[in-house]
Amino acid sequence: MKLKNMPDKKLLNEMSELAHRERELLSQILWHLKEIDQRKLYAEMKCGSLFEYCVKVLKYSEGQASRRVTACRLLREMPELSYEIEKGELNLTQLNQAKHFFYEEQIHVPEEKKKVLDQIKGKTTRESEKILWSLKKEEAPRKVTISLKEETLDELKKLQGLKAHTCQDLDSLLMKMCREVGELWNPKNIKRRSRGASIHQRYISVQLKAEVWERDQGRCQNCQSRYAIELDHIKPYALGGKTTLENLQLLCRNCNQRKGLFTLAGDDKDSNANQNHRNNYLKGQRNLSVDPHTRKRNGNHRCT
Ligand SMILES: [Zn+2]
Repeated sequence: MKLKNMPDKKLLNEMSELAHRERELLSQILWHLKEIDQRKLYAEMKCGSLFEYCVKVLKYSEGQASRRVTACRLLREMPELSYEIEKGELNLTQLNQAKHFFYEEQIHVPEEKKKVLDQIKGKTTRESEKILWSLKKEEAPRKVTISLKEETLDELKKLQGLKAHTCQDLDSLLMKMCREVGELWNPKNIKRRSRGASIHQRYISVQLKAEVWERDQGRCQNCQSRYAIELDHIKPYALGGKTTLENLQLLCRNCNQRKGLFTLAGDDKDSNANQNHRNNYLKGQRNLSVDPHTRKRNGNHRCT
């Protein structure tokens, strides 16, 4: 399969088709598992449970097996879920999240379960988790596991001691820290004056960075992500683009790199010139941050 030179559009179309077929296949797998489960056919394969059969005979990992077993049992109660899985509205992770929720909240009636599942349709894992959390009858703090270095833990304990009068527990201490640091790091709060940078220079002043950040609300202007945000010259600096508010935007690292693949080599994305440019660009790409607090002149933002 030669994908390296496949045109972008064809590559994306083929990927969508494959993902669709994968979901159809998953739905069929779940129906087969459901039938095997009902007939207890796994016993014929010397397995004590459907889970064991999935791991030992079908060679799924424990996690994969567990998600499939859970999903096929939900399918038994609600056959219409098969359609949602094929459409991509619900995935195995969401069905498992829902199953734990049903167990904890003692929800047994299929109609009640259906109402919950309707609310997480088409959502990401994280969004689903939030929704399920909000549906809980009793509000309880979420349990999370994080790994910290010994040094970090020591610093955290020191702070906890210092703030013991106002923060009764770790949760309130972390909330206070997040709010205070958030205010400190918020580009809107930066009042530094521009150093009189010229619009003909690549350098972007701290003030201008803060203005772009505020206008674009800290989000990538292509995909709305908030992760690894960088500043981008809409018309590339190398092609005469100016360093002005109008010609600057926020892009996440991936969208900026994607833009950089073609910006300097014309619009025909599948031309030889563009393919060469893309390969060279990918070799030389750098990861740079847009943090407006960094005043380093070179290397603190990426410009195209
Ligand atoms: Zn993006």
